[in-house]
Amino acid sequence: MTVRRPGPGSVRGRHTCPDCEELGGRYTLSPGFAIAARYLATRLQSYGYAGAGKDGSYFQSFDLINARVLPDTAAMTLSGGAETKTYKYGDFFNSASVAADVNASVVFAGYGISSKKQDHDDYAGLDVKGKIVLIMGSGTPTGVDPSLLGDEEETVGAAMAHGAVAVLYLPRQYDLGAMKRDSYRDRSLETVRLAVATSKIPAVRLKEDTANDFLRSLGLKVKDLHATAKEGKPIGPKATGLKASLKLAVETKIESSQNVVGWLPGTDKSLREEYVSISAHYDHLRANSKGEYYPGADDDGSGTVAVLNIARSMAMDPPKRSVLILFHAGEELGLLGSEYNADFAPVRPLEKMVANFNIDMVGRSKHAGDLNPRNSQMTSADTIYVIGADRTSKELHKLNEQTNQDFEKIRFDYLLNNPSHPDQIFFRSDHWNYGKHGVPFIFYFDGVGEDYHQPSDTEDKIDYDKLTRVARLVFQVSWRVANLDHRLSVN
Ligand SMILES: [Zn+2]
Repeated sequence: MTVRRPGPGSVRGRHTCPDCEELGGRYTLSPGFAIAARYLATRLQSYGYAGAGKDGSYFQSFDLINARVLPDTAAMTLSGGAETKTYKYGDFFNSASVAADVNASVVFAGYGISSKKQDHDDYAGLDVKGKIVLIMGSGTPTGVDPSLLGDEEETVGAAMAHGAVAVLYLPRQYDLGAMKRDSYRDRSLETVRLAVATSKIPAVRLKEDTANDFLRSLGLKVKDLHATAKEGKPIGPKATGLKASLKLAVETKIESSQNVVGWLPGTDKSLREEYVSISAHYDHLRANSKGEYYPGADDDGSGTVAVLNIARSMAMDPPKRSVLILFHAGEELGLLGSEYNADFAPVRPLEKMVANFNIDMVGRSKHAGDLNPRNSQMTSADTIYVIGADRTSKELHKLNEQTNQDFEKIRFDYLLNNPSHPDQIFFRSDHWNYGKHGVPFIFYFDGVGEDYHQPSDTEDKIDYDKLTRVARLVFQVSWRVANLDHRLSVN
């Protein structure tokens, strides 16, 4: 299996190419997005896959609520401290696209986690009914496994469950730099959520200075809290003695989109009831306010072509269990396509999914001598991050290791295979919507670099040898799992 290199298309720097213009940069809500969907469906059909959607369709359609904040009307005030302060949009950023008009006391609830199962409750002894809750919004204390937290046990879900009227998130470690860029502000204005998902209470994320204003009365600072969270130390909830008001006006529009779903029936009469799923996301970002497109060659063009090639190889020698190919939409909007398939209308019963193999960014390599700190997390030409395997199925982990030794001998880096890692990569792609339901998964990833979510993520920078080796490995491992004589064991 080799993934062929495309012809010339981009001019260095500002990305312009007919494909991006036509496809609208593969933004989920762009008119041209459906062209990419049809392209993938015709490929799957040509390999002999059936459509896995309703009535054998290759498309799993779903509705989205596109909510846009009107930044000029957004306002927040903070009082009760030395002076009353007012904030405009940019000092805080929309997080839930729910209109707000609240005025209430502010309570700091630390990590904001409330889990009986894991015997941790930041709301214990706190009365947040009708109040605004200020929480970390990232990080977990030692002893709490974030991968086992349910929607109502953390973040806005837990605050709602305790009667809060709004949530203020502190910035995450990886927000600090990004929040200084216009692109962050632009992207925060519009959030899209599934029409079927229940709407939440208003939530905003504070910029570092704004957050420090809220924390001052508690003698705390964002940077100190990040350091504390990094060590998993407890962060005690406290009443702040402060009051805040938040105004946010939101315009909403219903839109629709689709995952592309292909099914290859297994060869074994009984085992074909079960299936392995192999996924990538075929969406990327919208053009920015300068009209620049985001080609997303690595994110996730690399995963999409890898999955296409794996699908073709599977069809050449179908395994005993069935194979479900999932090209998710809306990943960049918050894992929406996989949330729809996993939580609301799975095209095949989730309990029959024996494993998910998710490929998101596997086509870039860090060059020797590259000292750019923004590339520090990138993997070298013979290395890939492996995330999830041993945390969901030790057997899957062994199989992945063994198959790699038998064939590709790629170096596996497990640094990000940690739900508590500050970058939270463990939760930041579509595998997580299956993993949270207990489905064993492996997420293959090459690391964030300087071109991540930039117009400079172009195809001329793709390492096709690496992409080919990773795609071949995922084919070999998923094929073995699909042919096991027993169901893969779950931890
Ligand atoms: Zn991605």
